[in-house]
Amino acid sequence: MAYYTRETLPDQPVLGARRPTINEYFLSSYTMSIYSGCEFACPYCDGWAYNPRSFSDVVRIPLELPKRLKADLMSVDRGDLVSITALSDPYQPVEQNYRLTRHVLQVFAEFGQPCLLLVKGLGVLDDIPLLQKIHERSLAVVMTTLLTVDRHMAERLEGKAPHRPCAWIC
Ligand code: SF4
Repeated sequence: MAYYTRETLPDQPVLGARRPTINEYFLSSYTMSIYSGCEFACPYCDGWAYNPRSFSDVVRIPLELPKRLKADLMSVDRGDLVSITALSDPYQPVEQNYRLTRHVLQVFAEFGQPCLLLVKGLGVLDDIPLLQKIHERSLAVVMTTLLTVDRHMAERLEGKAPHRPCAWIC
């Protein structure tokens, strides 16, 4: 299990700059993360390149993120897709306690801002009603990965990540 710590966000937009061209993988204009660090510790994750020592050992929780996101979305085009994909799964185990991702999705629902989530955490199932609400107003996309159907290989490649039932992929 990771060590969790509260994070104070730097005084800058949580969405960062709008991309001049949309992201070729996620078709998004903005990218953001919710937690920082990832307890699932997949050995192939590019997160290791940025925080090699503490990437999976320490997960930071920015409690003010939903409020800050709200301020950022005031000046974002409602047609722009925001992808929540950056170097941390938005459904860390601690989401059960803090519901930070849920609060972020509530902000997206309030603004009708299209969003995309890349997830392995099963907590996303609890937020389906909220994702449906966003989708009714604009667009909500949930993506997951399927590296292999070989259980032995899966254990080696992402053994700490939740097992996603095949029903998710089909
Ligand atoms: S779940 Fe995603 S963010 Fe987390 S370690 Fe695996 S690939 Fe990286």
